[in-house]
Amino acid sequence: MPDRIAIDGPAASGKSTVARMVAARLGGFFVSTGDLYRAVSRAVLDRGVDPRREAERVADLLPDIDLGYRRGSGSVLDLFLDGRPVSSEALRGPEVSEVVSFVAAIPAVREWLRDRQRACCRFGTIVMEGRDIGTVILPDATHKFYLTASPEERARRRLAQGGETAPGTSLAEVAARIAERDRIDSSRAVAPLRPAPDAVIIDTDGVPAPEVAERIVRRVQEGQGAA
Ligand code: C5P
Repeated sequence: MPDRIAIDGPAASGKSTVARMVAARLGGFFVSTGDLYRAVSRAVLDRGVDPRREAERVADLLPDIDLGYRRGSGSVLDLFLDGRPVSSEALRGPEVSEVVSFVAAIPAVREWLRDRQRACCRFGTIVMEGRDIGTVILPDATHKFYLTASPEERARRRLAQGGETAPGTSLAEVAARIAERDRIDSSRAVAPLRPAPDAVIIDTDGVPAPEVAERIVRRVQEGQGAA
């Protein structure tokens, strides 16, 4: 049975970078589940619905949205939205980032995405990052990790990354937006952000991503960090 590695944590805790490195080291597939919530947000906005004000209409739109992964070249999974490939970068602009936590708090959206996430395991060894992978999506993951970092460090990383933040945004503004996303993600009724009881918690403050990835790979190879 191939490994299923869950990496959860709050916004800008370094999950994507680390998960991508771990997948490359283990020869597995990397899945950023935030992309799925972002793709639904994109599809909803494209259909003229504002999820902040019209949550109930979002659920009605789901049957009309065509979203899923297909195997690309090598160990890459390509996300397709409404028949077209959609890149992670294209989903990280401010417009989607502003609404994604509202979309992710809608129970019908989480249910609709649940099987799409689990279906990724059919491809082989999977390194899946998100907020509820160890708790809800893959409770039987072979390895579970939860990355943390201080709010200041996360704001610095997000600003350095660009993409999600409009040019000229201050560190304080970025920190406030991250804190608001954390608040919504941690307090929602369905699948709130929290570590699985059996997750290995890694504080990444001041630890470069390659070193965090190395710690995870070592634990996986030694059979630790297991559920
Ligand atoms: O990881 P990323 O920043 O792309 O996630 C965007 C948003 O998607 C999160 O703030 C959260 O609201 C939602 N999300 C979630 N569950 C996941 C992954 C992302 O609720 N597994």
